[in-house]
Amino acid sequence: MAVARARPHESVRTTRALLLKRIEYGEADLVLSLFTERYGRVSALARAARKSTRRFGGALEPMHTLEVGLEERPKTELFMLREARIAVPRLGLIENLARLEAAGKALSWARRAAPPRTPEPELWDAVVALLDELTRREQPIEPKRLLAAAGLRILATLGWGLDFERCVRCGKECPRDQAALVDPQHGGLVCRACGGARVRLDAATRDRLSRAAVTGAAEDLTSDDAELASDLVDAVLKAHAGLE
Ligand SMILES: [Zn+2]
Repeated sequence: MAVARARPHESVRTTRALLLKRIEYGEADLVLSLFTERYGRVSALARAARKSTRRFGGALEPMHTLEVGLEERPKTELFMLREARIAVPRLGLIENLARLEAAGKALSWARRAAPPRTPEPELWDAVVALLDELTRREQPIEPKRLLAAAGLRILATLGWGLDFERCVRCGKECPRDQAALVDPQHGGLVCRACGGARVRLDAATRDRLSRAAVTGAAEDLTSDDAELASDLVDAVLKAHAGLE
């Protein structure tokens, strides 16, 4: 009985992707961690990628949006990378240290936030929009403020948004004009009666963070807010994704 075998190229799936991590493997290969638009976070083996840069046209660099062809293989979670090209280059981002740092942080958040092989279209859109914004030549807003606002927004899209309005333990609302204590591991404010938390937000800061979390607008955040917010986003993602 003849068994029909799929030709290799029939099983190649194409998607846009961001390179999260490259690990050297064997003598000439790379194992890539990719955040893809269609399949979420995946790992892929890039054969001979280190032997010849022509193999993938020098496309295996972070920050650019890539278009990749991935082939599923039996009995392994590891895709085979068949082709890769740069779909959206972001050279303007690579040339500026503050922008590059913000983009690197955003990719580290994507790595923690994206579950394996599960599409996360809103997370994809948020990360790509931030990278595009960081690449724009004219940039009146500091990269770290753009990053922090995007981070707060990303938490919200994942359903992990921080509650800056009420205590996450007892539900008591915190009056607008009062300072409050926030515990990122528990998802928001914790009032003193419920044990409080280490990070204190004065009323004005709390108000600005709360607004930025809803709108995703960097204009709402000061430079100090941005650092505080980024640390909070880090802590939330660490708590959800475990150690990585
Ligand atoms: Zn409480």
